[in-house]
Amino acid sequence: MKIVIIGGGASGLMAATAARETNPTAEIVILEKNEAIGKKLLLTGGGRCNVTTGLDDIQAVLKHYPRGAKFLTSALHRFPPAATRKFFEKQGVPLKTEADQRVFPQSEDGRDIVHVFTKLFARSQITVKNGATVERVEKTPDGFLLQLRGGTKPLTADHLIIATGGQAYRQTGSTGDGYAFAESLGHSLTDLHPSLSNLKTQEKWPAKLSGVSFARARLMVSKNKKLAQLGPFLFTHRGISGPAVFALSALIAKEKITAQQPLKINIDLFPDESNEKILTRLQMLIASAKQRAFCNVLAELIPKSLAQLACGELQLNPTSHSAEISKKDLRRLTDWLRAIPLHITDRTAGEEFVTAGGIELTEVNPSTMESKLCPGLFFTGEILNMDGFTGGFNLQAAWSTGHLAGTNAAK
Ligand SMILES: Cc1cc2nc3c(=O)[nH]c(=O)nc-3n(C[C@H](O)[C@H](O)[C@H](O)COP(=O)(O)OP(=O)(O)OC[C@H]3O[C@@H](n4cnc5c(N)ncnc54)[C@H](O)[C@@H]3O)c2cc1C
Repeated sequence: MKIVIIGGGASGLMAATAARETNPTAEIVILEKNEAIGKKLLLTGGGRCNVTTGLDDIQAVLKHYPRGAKFLTSALHRFPPAATRKFFEKQGVPLKTEADQRVFPQSEDGRDIVHVFTKLFARSQITVKNGATVERVEKTPDGFLLQLRGGTKPLTADHLIIATGGQAYRQTGSTGDGYAFAESLGHSLTDLHPSLSNLKTQEKWPAKLSGVSFARARLMVSKNKKLAQLGPFLFTHRGISGPAVFALSALIAKEKITAQQPLKINIDLFPDESNEKILTRLQMLIASAKQRAFCNVLAELIPKSLAQLACGELQLNPTSHSAEISKKDLRRLTDWLRAIPLHITDRTAGEEFVTAGGIELTEVNPSTMESKLCPGLFFTGEILNMDGFTGGFNLQAAWSTGHLAGTNAAK
């Protein structure tokens, strides 16, 4: 049996490994357009590779996928985060789990993750063809025919695994080629959108606060409390970024957002406190420094640049003595800090981490990853209409679906 895998990213690498575990004699070939496998893997987690999550309760893990959670259930049960951790540790890469449950190699070096596969493939006679760009895929009565760029003779496969990823970070080789292959084999695609991205704002003032970060805030779409995220965020020269922003961008990935039709959000800088408590804190600060300029007193509660901005936005005289600020103005200020309004105009496409949308999930068997329309064809990873939040969930989806596809393609 000959199994061909298009794509040497996370899911393709795991698919090849699982195929070999299942079938010691099958011919297994990975076709990767780059000059080496795992180009995107090396960039993950800022080079440290957040390889999976430390969470073990599958129901809790599934909550981290805004799209595709139901489809992923079976794959996650068969190859859960614990299996990922065990796999890499067994291959000689000790891992560590950080307080927020993100799991990294102890070496903090994503190259160790890629080396696992390089070594495994050399030992288990899995062929990796680098610099091999697949241009066309065809179904034949016996299997599949693949046309490679610059190649004269097409390649054959009994079973084909398409592991070409999404179209985020295109410079890594993930340019969405697999979508066309899938369509040519009868599959349909959902709309595609960037997810896990920074967000651009209509307001220009975030630029003045660029780099100012908050450890915990609640970001919510105005008038839709379901679209809300709690976590760290920061202001950037074009808007907002950080884990809570990425997560919110995943929740709003399919919302129509334009400069003409921006999406209004609010930021609550004190998600764990009541308005009364914030007011009391402000009053206590004022009581201890009645003659100081109000803006300087406010800077004891929030970063100075934000204090200056707040005074401007609420038309409070920043040089007024703090004792001169009325209780009514303090209440206005408190309300503002609990719901700073911003209008999102764009998602900074090109910088997103994953693609939301992909192969229509109803056309793929979630227990095997095999196409329901084209026997012998399998899909893995980000090409499918599923995506997760940050925290190792996208790689975990790639490992789980890759493992399931490889196992079943090799049977
Ligand atoms: C900067 C960045 C950081 C990230 N950090 C994390 C993180 O820390 N943790 C996490 O869980 N997720 C992270 N992600 C997301 C995660 O990397 C992806 O979801 C995951 O890599 C998807 O795996 P995949 O195998 O589906 O596709 P990919 O990893 O995209 O691999 C697809 C492969 O297919 C190849 N290919 C495409 N077309 C062809 C063709 N025609 N012929 C031959 N080969 C082809 C590509 O060159 C590529 O190597 C990050 C993403 C980015 C962009």
